Amino acid sequence: MRVYADNAATTAVSPTALEAMLPYLTEKYGNPSSVHSAGQEAAKGLDGARARIAGVLGAEAKEIYFTSGGTEADNWAIQIAMANGAKKNKRHIVSTAFEHHAVLHTLKKAEKNGAEVTLLDVHAEGVVRPEEVAAAIREDTALVTIMYANNEIGTLQPIAEIGKLCREKGVLFHTDAVQAAGHVPIDVVGQNIDMLSLAAHKFHGPKGIGLLYCRGKIPVPVFMEGGAQERGKRGGTENLPAIAGMAAALEEACQNMEIDNRRISRLRDKLIDAVSQIPHSRLNGDRQRRLPGIANFVFEGIEGEGLLLLLDMAGICASSGSACTSGSLDPSHVLLAIGLPHETAHGSLRLSLGAFNTEEEIDHIIKTLPPIVERLREMSPVWERIKKGA
Ligand SMILES: *Cc1c(COP(=O)(O)O)cnc(C)c1O
Repeated sequence: MRVYADNAATTAVSPTALEAMLPYLTEKYGNPSSVHSAGQEAAKGLDGARARIAGVLGAEAKEIYFTSGGTEADNWAIQIAMANGAKKNKRHIVSTAFEHHAVLHTLKKAEKNGAEVTLLDVHAEGVVRPEEVAAAIREDTALVTIMYANNEIGTLQPIAEIGKLCREKGVLFHTDAVQAAGHVPIDVVGQNIDMLSLAAHKFHGPKGIGLLYCRGKIPVPVFMEGGAQERGKRGGTENLPAIAGMAAALEEACQNMEIDNRRISRLRDKLIDAVSQIPHSRLNGDRQRRLPGIANFVFEGIEGEGLLLLLDMAGICASSGSACTSGSLDPSHVLLAIGLPHETAHGSLRLSLGAFNTEEEIDHIIKTLPPIVERLREMSPVWERIKKGA
């Protein structure tokens, strides 16, 4: 049995999304910018997909900019805020310590270009506090950028509350909703969101396609010089097969959201209950305020890498919070942000479920994981010390 439990990294393309893509890879291959009938057929597909996606998000079609994915949308949103802020001499940005690197690294670059960045604490529960967002906003704040849901530990942030207070204070609010879109309801108007990033491959759409929503009133500088695509802001022939796949995947995910989430969160809770029985383990992040599909654990005394390897050998694809950087293992910045010590932040396991996971698969994980943890601990000098201390 192979169990894919890494849906926070990427997901399988759903049959519905694939079916929506195929015509644009075969007979409807025209360029939407061409004036002939083949081009117009493609343009119709493009407009339709844009309108349907906008409808799902509560946005208008002209507020949707297609991008190559979440990373590009995050980069673009921060550039938009920097450009608009500079006109009013506003160069301060408020964010959190556990954003995705697409945001954190872009903020580092913004700092080199004169921005001043405040990274808020997310506390032990992995949730930012709206009153701390409000307190961090200054006269010269150009942007608040806070992720909708964390990609490592799955915790949901109080987006509507943050949106409301940003709107009241007249500060632009961007949310990286790459992990949340298609998994929890989003309403950009009701939640006072000015800019939002999402990527199709996190909700059973294809890879390499995403979007930036930018509220109509906000001036958008050109991101990519070239043709007149995306209202002249991002040149380049549209990836229409992927856009059609993204529209179908998003609509499908939102139609099935209630039923899927009930099932997936039940499987997640079953997993959490079982894994928490392992001695010296803990669930990271608030137990309640989380995405239906993500659970992240640490097991004292073992390394995440060894755990992933043995799980993979047992047919389970999972991931660890730690990223491998040029041979040396850095502890996860997310786990450090919720206050885990360096040693512990190395040994995490993220299990992320999607629409295609079954109960049998969860049972397989529950059966397989404890003996692997035990085996690794038997070989671990750190565990030896922990046992003696206990
Ligand atoms: C996956 C992810 C991204 C990056 O999206 P890409 O489509 O891979 O560029 C950004 N932010 C979050 C929260 C993510 O989970």
